[in-house]
Amino acid sequence: MNLILFGPPGAGKGTQAQFLVETYRIPQVSTGDMLRAAVKAGTPLGLKAQEIMTQGGLVSDDIVLGIVAERLAQDDCRSGFILDGFPRTIPQADALDAILKQAGRSIDHVVSLEVDNDEIVKRLSGRRSCPSCGKGYHVAFDAPLQADVCDVCGSGLVQRADDQEATVRNRLLVYEQQTAPLKDYYKSKNVLCSILGMGAIAEIQQRIISALVN
Ligand code: AMP
Repeated sequence: MNLILFGPPGAGKGTQAQFLVETYRIPQVSTGDMLRAAVKAGTPLGLKAQEIMTQGGLVSDDIVLGIVAERLAQDDCRSGFILDGFPRTIPQADALDAILKQAGRSIDHVVSLEVDNDEIVKRLSGRRSCPSCGKGYHVAFDAPLQADVCDVCGSGLVQRADDQEATVRNRLLVYEQQTAPLKDYYKSKNVLCSILGMGAIAEIQQRIISALVN
């Protein structure tokens, strides 16, 4: 199954992707994760992407398309993949179409998670993670036992630079202007299903599964 998890930043794409990876045994392909890894490793690509990511803007299409094309060509994507955070612009969607067509493939489903903006700001500005073991937390909804300390390994928790409120607002604006139009794009291809992305995580998982089997 070739799947796109779609929605604004903070819609829960990463969380639901983990569940779908376990359910369908296909990999998550997150452009945000791949770009953050490149920034951390200090590669030339990471250095180019870093500033724009910190501001909450979009990294250029050619950088992102390069990493996606390379990733989708790997063996573990042969029986399917879950794209998370890609495509984010119409040119990216067109290019994805072309890459898949060349390989005789296409997108089967686009699951769009719908969450309102106030909820997103609350979710993202409270999000924290452990830089050592990767465990995620939220200061209000999933707090560590001791403030700012990882329950698992005791490291100090960090906030993503682009999760600060002003940057979150900018990311939402970019989403509205450049990414939301993709809903009509995929609707016209008859692959879009819109899911309410608010409520308990397990409820949202059920909504996604129901949409995928129908
Ligand atoms: P995410 O983790 O998906 O929220 O992505 C974090 C940041 O990485 C975004 O705010 C962008 O700066 C950059 N990014 C991730 N995916 C893309 C994409 N498909 N196109 C352009 N920039 C991206």
